[in-house]
Amino acid sequence: MALIIRSSAIHAAGCYTTTAIRKGARVAEYTGHRLTKAEADAAYEASPITYLFGLGDGSIVIDGHCTAMFINHSCDANCETSEVRGRVWIKAIRKIAAGEEITYDYCLYDGGDDEALCNCGAKRCRRTMYSKEEVRRRKAAAKKSLKKPVKKKRGKRKAGKSAKLALA
Ligand SMILES: [Zn+2]
Repeated sequence: MALIIRSSAIHAAGCYTTTAIRKGARVAEYTGHRLTKAEADAAYEASPITYLFGLGDGSIVIDGHCTAMFINHSCDANCETSEVRGRVWIKAIRKIAAGEEITYDYCLYDGGDDEALCNCGAKRCRRTMYSKEEVRRRKAAAKKSLKKPVKKKRGKRKAGKSAKLALA
């Protein structure tokens, strides 16, 4: 197996295989310094691009310094990540042909104001690189912040109506 980095239609640079890869094979390891989440937040506070990979519950992150950090997200990926005893492997979830770009689903979380829009081009692209759970969480949070003033207005109107009724 040989991986190369070259420009990608998905985003900037991508990771490609020059040989066929069988389903289930480990394609690459995501390596780099281990940081606590607080250390990573402090180090990359003002940085729009990071190569951080959250381990386990997310309290420790890997600050990517490896070939795997160039692997792009796709909503229809050919790989997935698997954490084994504190190490992160990129594993093929289907047979990958020579020349194909290696991708996995980033399932992002903790992105703040960033919309993390997806440009993977897959037929069933979900238009974001956030995980499904994170999309639900963000939608619920957005609804909550939108609902508050609406609820107040409704409340006021209701109060007005009942006041009129009371007068009649
Ligand atoms: Zn997509």
